[in-house]
Amino acid sequence: MENIIELKDVRKIYRMGDEKVVALDHISLTIGSGELCCLLGTSGSGKSTMLNLMAGLEKPTKGQIIVKNFHVEKLNESQLAKLRQKYIGFVFQSYNLLENLTALENVSLPLIFKGVHKTIREKKAKEILKAVGLDSRLHHKPSQMSGGQQQRVSIARAFISNPQIVFADEPTGNLDSKTTVEVMDLITGLAKANNQTLIIVTHDNEISRYADKVVYIKDGNIDSIKENNKITEEGLV
Ligand code: ADP
Ligand code: MG
Repeated sequence: MENIIELKDVRKIYRMGDEKVVALDHISLTIGSGELCCLLGTSGSGKSTMLNLMAGLEKPTKGQIIVKNFHVEKLNESQLAKLRQKYIGFVFQSYNLLENLTALENVSLPLIFKGVHKTIREKKAKEILKAVGLDSRLHHKPSQMSGGQQQRVSIARAFISNPQIVFADEPTGNLDSKTTVEVMDLITGLAKANNQTLIIVTHDNEISRYADKVVYIKDGNIDSIKENNKITEEGLV
């Protein structure tokens, strides 16, 4: 499997006045193309910081971050914006939908930025909203939908441009256990069907059973890495 993301001895220190917070200490990790990777750890362990660095939303204090052969730590804002637009989709805990737009309009947004024609945008947005089970909610605004439905809209938005990489930060953090299973089935099903690389941040051990690779994060370091259901020469482990 080819690597799509690589972190080499990454450190991230936040300075708050005189105080230093070591959010990430020494992180080295590779994620393969098409892999479903879960970053698991307690609150404050550095998971979101790791995701934000991989997505180029923040710069590392030290180390290298290679995404699709690009050195993310060296790119400027406009290069990063292009990288994200071309290769990356996001799902957030709080959905981050635009309140004044309908489901259809929210999901169409990434295609507007890509310059896709309106009729094609709407056709694609309708298709993917149908795929996430929301064909009867096209014209609903976020406030008119349940949390689970809003997260489905945000998943549709993340996947509409078929990005090679999808980052999800606590995607089920605001959902009940039944809806969590539905949303996880949906997001992992879409990623596997399209051979996309999915990186999920969570503090919920239950979520990790969906992953090919579980990276346990503790106090800004990788504590251990577990590969699920991996077939090796010795057989199934
Ligand atoms: P997690 O997502 O695992 O809960 P975070 O990556 O958000 O953890 O945070 C890791 C550590 O870095 C925490 O101690 C947090 O307080 C600190 N931290 C995160 N972001 C900032 C910031 N912008 N400024 C200062 N400290 C931060
Ligand atoms: Mg977090």
